[in-house]
Amino acid sequence: MIKNDVTQRLRKPISLFVFAAVVSIATLLLYNIPFFSYVAGNNNESTLGRLFLLLSLGVVMLALNFMMTYLVMFLLKMVGRILLAILAVINATAVYFIYTYNVMIDATTIENVFNTRYSEASGFFSWSLWLFVIAFGVLPALFCLLQPVDYGKAKRLAISCGCSIAIVLVVALANIGKTLWIGQHDTELGGLLQPWSYLANTVRVFSFSQDKQAEEIKLPDGYITDKEKAVVVLVIGESARKANFQLYGYGRDTNTLLAAQEGLKVYEATSCATYTTAGTKAILEPKNSDDLYEVLPNYAFRTGVDVSWRTSNWGEPPIHIDEYLTDDELAKMYPDEERKYDAILFRGLRERIASSPKNKVLIVLHTSTSHGPNYADKYPKEFEFYKPVAKNVEEGEKNIGLLVNAYDNTIRYTDYLLSRLIDTLRDMTDWKSAMIFISDHGESLGENKMFMHGLPMRLAPKVQYEIPFLVWTSKDFRTYKPVATSQEPAEGELPAILEQHYIFHSVLNLLSIQSPAYNPAYDIFMRTDSLSLNNIK
Ligand SMILES: [Zn+2]
Repeated sequence: MIKNDVTQRLRKPISLFVFAAVVSIATLLLYNIPFFSYVAGNNNESTLGRLFLLLSLGVVMLALNFMMTYLVMFLLKMVGRILLAILAVINATAVYFIYTYNVMIDATTIENVFNTRYSEASGFFSWSLWLFVIAFGVLPALFCLLQPVDYGKAKRLAISCGCSIAIVLVVALANIGKTLWIGQHDTELGGLLQPWSYLANTVRVFSFSQDKQAEEIKLPDGYITDKEKAVVVLVIGESARKANFQLYGYGRDTNTLLAAQEGLKVYEATSCATYTTAGTKAILEPKNSDDLYEVLPNYAFRTGVDVSWRTSNWGEPPIHIDEYLTDDELAKMYPDEERKYDAILFRGLRERIASSPKNKVLIVLHTSTSHGPNYADKYPKEFEFYKPVAKNVEEGEKNIGLLVNAYDNTIRYTDYLLSRLIDTLRDMTDWKSAMIFISDHGESLGENKMFMHGLPMRLAPKVQYEIPFLVWTSKDFRTYKPVATSQEPAEGELPAILEQHYIFHSVLNLLSIQSPAYNPAYDIFMRTDSLSLNNIK
């Protein structure tokens, strides 16, 4: 009897007014608590003022979500239901990540979602995610899909929407003094507001990527000034943070091999961003810009350098060269090498360089060695020096030490790969050679409950942008500029902290490329060829 009663009540249509109210309240309670806790924790109003602001935002959110639900359902009927159901599932997923990883859903996060390959993304999927999404996403979605609704007349739609707009206007007027505060916190607020965070930011990312597909801006022609055999191997690190490098004073011996390498230069450096696409672009472009300039490998290739790009990563600017090799392709070339680990990128480099038809060679290795969340999967078993390890970030959250163990093993593996590369280059005595290692950005390992990377620069903790920048050259290749010991560098000195745009100009110098695009101020070496004085700044 009771069961029948319940099913009958469920089958009974409710008015669209009630339906929209339920969806609106549920959206607030299920998906927007992080938004309100941010507001509560980030303003210096009195208790009363804070309550008023919270209440106002709550009312505005309820009214807007109510109106949107009403409109979507009334106008689109079944399509509207499907849209609401999809939003419920995405909302739940977004909120899960906000809670678990302390992230914000801004344009960067969305871009990372679209740029992350499934193999990496799958590291995020876990039982707790599935349970959370079923409880807070799928169940509400079923309600949106199945609950019978009496849609009512257009007149009621007009009244409901009119009242909602009136409420929003009144509350907005009452809070007119808060616009400055809201303006200052718009990124964070927008990043926590569901479903608007990912809807608005997806649109932003797509319009941005349309711009990015635009033709790169060609740099003025350059030319190679000598015939000396020279090779530069640029290794782009992934999520490698300075704090965990022994070379920068970390308490663990994570760089035993590199520390023993003679002539290794260790620079203080910061990244320009905290995510892969922007960090990689900054390493390869001549100057900081929202535009896409011809990047280093493309420019060197066009100037006559033999360029090879080897990658186990993604998210780099468009590369236009003859030899672009993914880890999959390299695994086919070297079937005896394990494809899973970054050693595959370093495989056969000596032969590759020695057989080059050109005198100038640039090899770029875009590694993924310290990429989370599954750090423990990124190095071969014999590099598990620090034990026990957490399998992924989620497991490591409960025991940060295990997460740091896994991460530190990736740094030790990096140490091994770079050191072996230096040995190879040092052996090739008929070539002048250089190895440069720089990371795209840093990483959070649980400090202040933050994990991974990708926070906007002005919110990001140091560990997300303080990066290793290591340089080794063969004997008598180039002379290093001195590094300033005070805040203000003197003439001819490098600043105490470098950034990623030093790569482009330093590599042009190493490859003896003379070009109006070359800026000596961003070169870590002195320029030895005679044309440097004619340079256009
Ligand atoms: Zn990255």
